[in-house]
Amino acid sequence: LMRTFADQSVIAMHNAELFRELAERGRQLQIANEHKSQFFANMSHELRTPLNAVLGYAELLVDGLYGELPAKAVDVLERVQANGRHLLGLINDVLDLSKIEAGQLALAADTYAMRGVVEQVVAATESLARAKGLALTTEIAEDLPLGHGDERRLTQVFLNIVGNAIKFTEHGAVAIRVGAADGQFLVAVRDTGPGIAPEDRQRIFDEFQQVDNSNTRQKGGTGLGLAIARRLVEMHGGAITLESEVGVGSEFLVRLPVRPDLAPPAAAETPAA
Ligand code: ADP
Repeated sequence: LMRTFADQSVIAMHNAELFRELAERGRQLQIANEHKSQFFANMSHELRTPLNAVLGYAELLVDGLYGELPAKAVDVLERVQANGRHLLGLINDVLDLSKIEAGQLALAADTYAMRGVVEQVVAATESLARAKGLALTTEIAEDLPLGHGDERRLTQVFLNIVGNAIKFTEHGAVAIRVGAADGQFLVAVRDTGPGIAPEDRQRIFDEFQQVDNSNTRQKGGTGLGLAIARRLVEMHGGAITLESEVGVGSEFLVRLPVRPDLAPPAAAETPAA
């Protein structure tokens, strides 16, 4: 009996030591991760400044500030601008994601109107839809409650989702529906695009994941948009889900809490009839 006790205490000591070592390694890993995120955040910031200068100078030339340029030169400059804007988008995405991962992205605490958010997104994307011959429609419920959170960041979320719907759809329509029930907004963005296969429906929310790399590269994009969108929505206490049928289309559903003081009381608190 004594021996078993002795053996057990040796094992217990050993386990405790192992546990301490694992905890220490976890702590080091976390520190390394924070350094990595901080590095990306700093680097993205440093890259943006000269890139903004490049874009600014190109714009001066395109605008004819130094005289009329030959058509070919304008064409080249417009390519400089398009590539510069693409790079800026990529840098902004990496910066956002690093900030989120480092826990350094602070959300504003605005009271916002969901109708206003959706209308801003439509205003920013309708010319894109029109250029592709797609109908962009909205159906927004009357008397929506107010929301509480970071209006600019939520606009970014819906810009990404609606932008994707337009980007990946060649024929048909993109329809946005907005309603509220049970203390939540429900924003549905449905498209008649290629759809997303069941095996891809989870991973497109991960970083740098694109369904079809050749197709996506052709269409531009970084594969970071949905990863950022999901985190931003979750930071607001909401969730993004996806329904899709290959060859028919996709529907992204975003749920976000309405301003807490405006949510109907929980069922348990309402007196029984
Ligand atoms: P990006 O659009 O920059 O590639 P996202 O993270 O926004 O990155 O999207 C990831 C991938 O999910 C896209 O590359 C595309 O393959 C797929 N995807 C997103 N939205 C749609 C959609 N509405 N229809 C079809 N595929 C989509």
